[in-house]
Amino acid sequence: MPVYVVHYSEIALKGKNRAYFEEALARNIALMLKGHGEVKVRKRYGRLLVEGEGALDREALQLIPGIKSFAQAERVELDLEAIATMALRLAQGEQANSFMIRTKRSDKSFPLTSLEVNRLVGERVARQTGKTVSLTAPELTIHIEICSDEAYLYKEIVPGLGGLPVGTSGRVIALVSGGIDSPVAAFLMMKRGCEVILLHFFNETIHSLKVGGKLASLAERLAHFQGETKLYMVPFGGLQREIIKAVPARYRMLIYRRTMMRLAEEVARLEGAKALVTGDSLAQVASQTLDNLRVIYEATGLPVLAPLIGSDKEETIALARKIGTYEISILPYEDCCSFMVAPHPETHGDPQTIAALQKGLALDLADAISRAEIESFGPNRA
Ligand code: ATP
Ligand code: MG
Repeated sequence: MPVYVVHYSEIALKGKNRAYFEEALARNIALMLKGHGEVKVRKRYGRLLVEGEGALDREALQLIPGIKSFAQAERVELDLEAIATMALRLAQGEQANSFMIRTKRSDKSFPLTSLEVNRLVGERVARQTGKTVSLTAPELTIHIEICSDEAYLYKEIVPGLGGLPVGTSGRVIALVSGGIDSPVAAFLMMKRGCEVILLHFFNETIHSLKVGGKLASLAERLAHFQGETKLYMVPFGGLQREIIKAVPARYRMLIYRRTMMRLAEEVARLEGAKALVTGDSLAQVASQTLDNLRVIYEATGLPVLAPLIGSDKEETIALARKIGTYEISILPYEDCCSFMVAPHPETHGDPQTIAALQKGLALDLADAISRAEIESFGPNRA
């Protein structure tokens, strides 16, 4: 059975919470790999061991928040002879002229220190392969991890996503348009350990069915990182009609977005979520000046997290490509936010004007929420 040794990122720093983070990561790994046959995840002193029947899905492991790195390892009994023999076998399969042995010993009852293991195994490998030891620029590194009941040896360390296990930072509601930015913002919160519920507003009178398909594809893509992902599709057309009747074109975008925040707060209440997430980036477009963000975010009492606030568009696009949402986001569609909006919308919304406009509106938010379509997407569905 192939075994992967998984190392986690900041979890080790979290003191008393460590066991909680380990449990969460172990559970997430088991869930995410469920589609790939029987998988067992065991905790082993600062690392996790993932064992599976068929070949484990290396790509899936690379997408799981909380994994710093992992390696496919060979396991041997706790015995210097067995360890040295396996190290030799690993070295013999390689062209490299120089090598080093790097031992970590998490169980101090093993009779030799890490340095002694390095030296003894290194001597043996050098003697029997003719390769030379280089501690500064080895072409090959053989890693040995000594635990209490067995040892693991491997050559290649695969970098993981980093971050924290999904679920350990609480639940949030991400407002996701079909654009490039908001799916990236949702991803960043997943990577920070949040369980993210996606929320999209659409104008049912102007939008074709394509929008639903696009959002479903985004949700499915994001499910590759957090697992089961819930998507709320809330009809916004009726509310927009009310807003258009009462609010001049110049201010509509701001009122739309404030209304979205209030609806999102309602969804957060239903879902027990603690914050809202947007894809805003400071001053990127008219709705994202400091003045406008102020009047938009003031519409809700919940904290608003905007992880892209300091990002350039190029950085966001690069990340969108990396996580696989970019190709979905660039499919043509029209966001309801720009429906019947002035060509030059207000860029410095002031709270008094907005409050006055808002006063003249009686919006039935509960009705929109009650007509939401809710669907769950999993990484293993496709
Ligand atoms: P994006 O690329 O995420 O669409 P953007 O730079 O195009 O962002 P806007 O379209 O003004 O900027 O949207 C700003 C933010 O408002 C989005 O990132 C998203 O969080 C939220 N938002 C806008 N439209 C919608 C919508 N139809 N449904 C849900 N959230 C939305
Ligand atoms: Mg947009």
